[in-house]
Amino acid sequence: AHSAGSTAPQPYDPVLSKQQFRSREIERALGRALDRGEFQIWYQPQHRVADGKLIGSEALVRWSNASLGRVAPNEFIAIAESTGFILELGRFVLEQSVEDALAMPPDLGIAVNVSGVQLIAGDVLGDVKRVLETTGLPASRLCLELTESVLLDGSGGLIETMQDVQFLGVSWALDDFGTGYSSMGYLSQLPLEKIKLDKAFTMSLGVDRASLPILSAMSDLCRGLGIKLLCEGVETEDHLAHLQAHGCDEAQGYLFGRPMCLTDFLSYASSQIQE
Ligand code: C2E
Ligand code: CA
Ligand code: CA
Ligand code: CA
Repeated sequence: AHSAGSTAPQPYDPVLSKQQFRSREIERALGRALDRGEFQIWYQPQHRVADGKLIGSEALVRWSNASLGRVAPNEFIAIAESTGFILELGRFVLEQSVEDALAMPPDLGIAVNVSGVQLIAGDVLGDVKRVLETTGLPASRLCLELTESVLLDGSGGLIETMQDVQFLGVSWALDDFGTGYSSMGYLSQLPLEKIKLDKAFTMSLGVDRASLPILSAMSDLCRGLGIKLLCEGVETEDHLAHLQAHGCDEAQGYLFGRPMCLTDFLSYASSQIQE
């Protein structure tokens, strides 16, 4: 253990160096992973709360490497962002998931995560235009999810890009809302179709005394702004009952389904239609 405030040279720390070693391994393997076809896109169902109808899915990237095994996106996305590889990976995820969406029932939406790095250093507008043109997917089926932390960092031109993309008919969802950067101030300035409440908030429903008043205030706020509210990490019937009682629009989580490969998602979608 290190003593707080110590300026002496730190002793060799095997834990840190193990992490650094792994990061470097991941960085090196990421560079070749696209060409080797090591990425897959999985789909997690999103449902309307009022009538339980399946309305679409979120595309979530999966990576499996021969020597590293399966690596979680929470581990490699940050590394891909720091090296700039996310620009290539993000284009791949967008292209693949939009192509897959063509195989899904035409009334289902597809939500794709966009990293702030793509928005700042990439050409999200150009990428989206091109993928819609080449696939013919109706723009209204595509939603882009953006984590709110980005918006506060370097917001120069970001809102304009979001507006340009929205002008194509594509919508924006603000991801991971309630994880620490929350500011009510800019909500009305962003071209948002949807706000996604983070799963940490959903987990607190019925556990934390403040959670229900917050949910009810959030759904009032969203309704007032004309923004849909989706809760992530809905795992239990109790969670869902709270969302129903407080006017939350949409839900996503293990209660409905885990992220699954395209084939499994297609069977899931057809089982929903028959019900
Ligand atoms: P996210 O966008 O908030 O995605 C939701 C995460 O919560 C997913 O983890 C999903 O598997 C998990 N989850 C869904 N329902 C439940 C539930 O009921 N309970 C619990 N405990 N967890 C649930 P995953 O797939 O590991 O992704 C982690 C994060 O990695 C994502 O968080 C997103 O920020 C990032 N990510 C994933 N795919 C992409 C991508 O293609 N591009 C970018 N830029 N980021 C991605
Ligand atoms: Ca997301
Ligand atoms: Ca829309
Ligand atoms: Ca999220």
